[in-house]
Formats: sequence, structure tokens, C-alpha cells
Amino acid sequence: MLPLVALVGRPNVGKSTLFNALTRTRDALVHDEPGVTRDRNYGVCRLLEGRPFVLVDTGGIAGEDEGLAGATARQSRAAAEEADLILFVVDGREGASALDDDILRWLRKQSKPTLLVVNKSDGIDLQTALAEFARYGFGDALPVSSAQRTGIDALLAKTAALLPAEGSTETLDDDPSRVRIAFVGRPNVGKSTLVNRILGEERMIASDVPGTTRDSIAVDLERDGRKYRLIDTAGLRRRGKVEEAVEKFSAFKTLQAIEQCQVAVLMLDASEGVTDQDATVLGAILDAGRALVIVLNKWDGRTDYERQQAEALAARKLSFVEWAERVRISALHGSGLRELFKSIHRAHASATHVFSTADVTRAVEAAYTAYPPPVVRGHVAKLRFAHPGGDTPPTFVVHGTRLKTLSATYQRYLENFFRKRFKLVGTPIRFIFRENN
Ligand code: GDP
Ligand code: GDP
Repeated sequence: MLPLVALVGRPNVGKSTLFNALTRTRDALVHDEPGVTRDRNYGVCRLLEGRPFVLVDTGGIAGEDEGLAGATARQSRAAAEEADLILFVVDGREGASALDDDILRWLRKQSKPTLLVVNKSDGIDLQTALAEFARYGFGDALPVSSAQRTGIDALLAKTAALLPAEGSTETLDDDPSRVRIAFVGRPNVGKSTLVNRILGEERMIASDVPGTTRDSIAVDLERDGRKYRLIDTAGLRRRGKVEEAVEKFSAFKTLQAIEQCQVAVLMLDASEGVTDQDATVLGAILDAGRALVIVLNKWDGRTDYERQQAEALAARKLSFVEWAERVRISALHGSGLRELFKSIHRAHASATHVFSTADVTRAVEAAYTAYPPPVVRGHVAKLRFAHPGGDTPPTFVVHGTRLKTLSATYQRYLENFFRKRFKLVGTPIRFIFRENN
């Protein structure tokens, strides 16, 4: 399970700037895809050496309890109450305000691990800024500039030290022979219907995973002789009080489920195209590097024309993940499930494939020979050798010289070359470039 860290602070102190600084992905190819959007409130920070954490940018904690502002305030407080760590963000330029004092009073009642982050510390006298907040009683306030990205490493180091240790919370990957899948997507696309359909068929051998709580409900099942674990999918939740609590954090739950799975099945409603919310879930899957199968659900009761329209729309909107297989199903009628599980299996096999150094180096040589990188301002990159760098997603470490001049286009060429050569479907792949002198 990923820990949850909440950004708390009055408006304008720079929370969303800090949120962006902490959640920007290291993978520029993924980050800049036009078809991907990102959640403005929930994101995963992967900048730590150790494990990632979920970051939530809360709105006005100290707001009124009435109306729309009240709803935001209640949600922010709920998120902060669930958090493992709170980053209390203040403005070093403006100093402490009455609103900061209100928030501090509220935070004291929580008695949670809290770090005081003095933002906008660029171009100001640090000692004066810190002294302003000394009366808040945080021994080790951290000056940062979210805009200039200074102080971020120190903040991350402190954060890592205060988060619950890895392994102190349950993990769902104890059985390597099980393929871990998560069915994700926005509300009403048919996740519960699908999961119930799958479990209904397999009722005899499905079983709750012992020890799972409302935070991570999982179910094991077998199908056509293969073992699967379904992770935190809507259909597994008990209805009622729990559901209400879960609703509130559905973004958090989705990020958790993506993190714990090996194959994410992104469910779309075929009649509604690809919405912004769908694109946000897709962005989270790509950031996490998980294998991906796209499901076009509610394929029943459509005319041929409507089906063609839906196909064309999905193909266009999802062209940048054309490596992901698209499966048409009707969760309601149970059609297409065999194809779905075949795709899940192919994606999993690709994501966990073991490569040899010789194979990877030969692939780089072949790609390089077929199409060497073009000259950029009188410099040309040379690719020399490569080796595997891990799985889920398959990662390739490429050594060479002047690799900084490799364009995004060339990186995409390499990616496509590797995909074809190793017949990789349903998984993102990553390259790490290492400069050799
Ligand atoms: P939020 O309301 O707390 O989410 O604050 P924003 O992130 O929207 O930032 C409010 C304003 O402060 C924006 O104009 C930012 O550009 C600016 N800002 C944020 N972080 C910094 C910083 O580190 N240094 C400076 N100088 N300005 C910042
Ligand atoms: P969830 O919020 O993603 O779990 O979605 P649900 O499984 O609750 O489904 C939302 C609605 O879509 C329900 O009324 C379902 O009966 C309906 N639905 C789900 N799958 C299908 C399908 O394959 N075809 C049709 N026609 N309706 C479906």
C-alpha cells in the first residue's frame, strides 16, 4: 500500500506548485502525451529512492462548513485525517497570517506527523522567514521554493524518514504465480457488473484474500487453469457505510489499485468515448508503468454504425497507446470475457518477460545500424551496448555517448523497434540512457 501525504495550507501559499514539483514524472515521453491528463488533486510522487507515495493537494482546510466551500473543507479535512503525513505549507514571503494560525490549531488536534514547509523561499532572507514561523513550534521547518525546485530533496528526505516503513503495511504480491489485475475506470462504466460476472462464473474457486481490509479488498480466482488476484475493484466492495467512505477517496483507491496490480484493465463505456476522467486514469497507469488492457464495455445493443463510430473514436483518442490491446465486451451479457483474459495474459507475459543482455545489445545494434541518430548541432549520439534493467515495465539500459542529443522521435523509434522485435504487447517499455566516456 502506498502511504498518503496531504498538502495543507491556506490558498496561494503554493500548494499546487509544490504538488506539481513533487508529482511530475521522470518519464518525459509519457508526461507530454497529448492524450493524457492528470488529476489536479491526487498524484503519485516517485522522486524518492525508496517507495513512492500518494500526494493529495487539499483545498481550504479552514473554510466555513456551509455550502460548496464547506464541502471542500470537509473533504480536505477527511483527506488530511487519513494521511500518514501532513505537509503544512506556508508562505515565507508573506509570513504567518490569521488563517495559518487557524490551520495550525486544527492540525494540533490531529496529532499527526507534520512537517512545516516554508515555501517561496527564493530570493528572501531565510533566517527571517523561518523566524517568523518559529512560534509555531516546529523544530525543523523546511525552507523550499516550489517554483525554483530548491529544497525539494531535503523535503523528500524528511518525508521518507517520517513515512511508515515499507513492509509495515500489507502487500498483495506474495504469490508470484498469480497475475494481479485491477479493473479501473470512472464510475458507471461497468466495473462492478464485470467483476460480479467474472466471480459469478467462478464462484466455486474464488475466495477473499485473508487479512485484506476495507482499504485493499482482493479476491483470488482461477480461470482456464490460470491464477489471478483481483485487486480493489468496485465490485468487491460491500455496499453501505463503507462505500460512502470509499467514494470520498476514489481517486486515492484507484491509484492504490494501479500500484498493486501488474495488469490494469481500463474500462471505457463504448457509447461515451474517451472522457477527461478516463484520460486521467490512463495517465496514472502509464506513470506507474503497468501493463494495460483497454476494455470497450457495453458493446451490446449497438448498431453496426454505432460500433464503427466507437471503434474509430477509441482508435483516434488512444493512438498513443496503440500497443495496448482493445477488447470489446458486454459485462452485462458476459460476452468477450475469453478474449479479455487472453489479452490480460499476453500483457502480463510481455510485462514480465526476461531478456538476456545479448538479446538487448543485439537489438540496440540492429536499431542503430538500420537508422543511426541524426546529427544535432554538429553532434551525433552513439549507442554502444545495452542490458536489461528490470521488468513491469520492461526496462532497457542503453549505454553510449552524446545521448543527451537523442530526440524524442528517436526514442520513440527505438521503442517501436524493440516492441516489434520482441513482440511486446500490452505493456509500456522504458529506456534508461547512460553516458559512457
Ligand atoms: P495554492 O493556492 O496554495 O495552490 O498556491 P499556487 O500553487 O496556486 O501558488 C500561488 C502563487 O504563488 C502562484 O502565483 C505561484 O506562481 C506562486 N508561487 C508558488 N510557489 C512559489 C515559490 O516557490 N516561489 C515564488 N516566488 N512564488 C511561488
Ligand atoms: P461501475 O460504477 O463502474 O462499477 O459500474 P456498474 O457496474 O455499477 O454499471 C453501471 C451501469 O451500467 C449499471 O446500470 C449496469 O447495469 C450498466 N452496465 C454495465 N455493464 C453493461 C453492459 O455491458 N451493457 C449494458 N447495456 N449496460 C451495462
